[in-house]
Amino acid sequence: SETEFANWYRADDGSANMPALNLHFEVARAYGRDMQALHWTPREILERANASDKPLQTFLQALDHIGGYKEDPLRKKATLLAVILRQRPEQFLRVAPAESVPPIIDYHLMRSCLRTGLIRVDDDALRQKLERRELVAADEEWAVRSAAYEAISRTQSLSGKSMGAVDWFFFGARRYCPEMTEPDCARCTLDAVCAHAKNLFQPARRTTFY
Ligand code: SF4
Repeated sequence: SETEFANWYRADDGSANMPALNLHFEVARAYGRDMQALHWTPREILERANASDKPLQTFLQALDHIGGYKEDPLRKKATLLAVILRQRPEQFLRVAPAESVPPIIDYHLMRSCLRTGLIRVDDDALRQKLERRELVAADEEWAVRSAAYEAISRTQSLSGKSMGAVDWFFFGARRYCPEMTEPDCARCTLDAVCAHAKNLFQPARRTTFY
């Protein structure tokens, strides 16, 4: 029940601080419904993936059918889960040498792409919303996020680095290009090539995709 679910998320002192708990509940139910309908278990999904020629692809395709994952066409949570399962000491998921991990696009990568100039916003109305950190519509968020996906894909192929290395580089860039305080360009490794669009912020939108 929803009450029981809410109790799982209580802090040690009994307080209920989880934001958007209803969204967590809906996603958990969607996950459970699909797993039951498909008669799948997490172990079976992994065993099937690891037994295939393309374990990563097989794993992501399986999650395309499961609530909580299937809604996002860019597969952010599914890909992140795959990376976590692969990097666990147990190496739950095998990834074949020929397989490459797709971009994992969330807030920090969109912010980096916008500020560095990897993507450019030509729509004045959208640009203003991003600068003012106003809520954006679904299609506006998609325009930025899909462009960021493309930009990070190209960055990866042009650099010859793995997606993990590219993601880690931009993850580290958050240190000098944070959300809530002024960017420290002088200490940032991207300073020499950056567009310095410091006023731009990632799309503000409540989502369960990432
Ligand atoms: S150079 Fe400045 S604006 Fe560009 S990514 Fe670094 S901190 Fe952000």
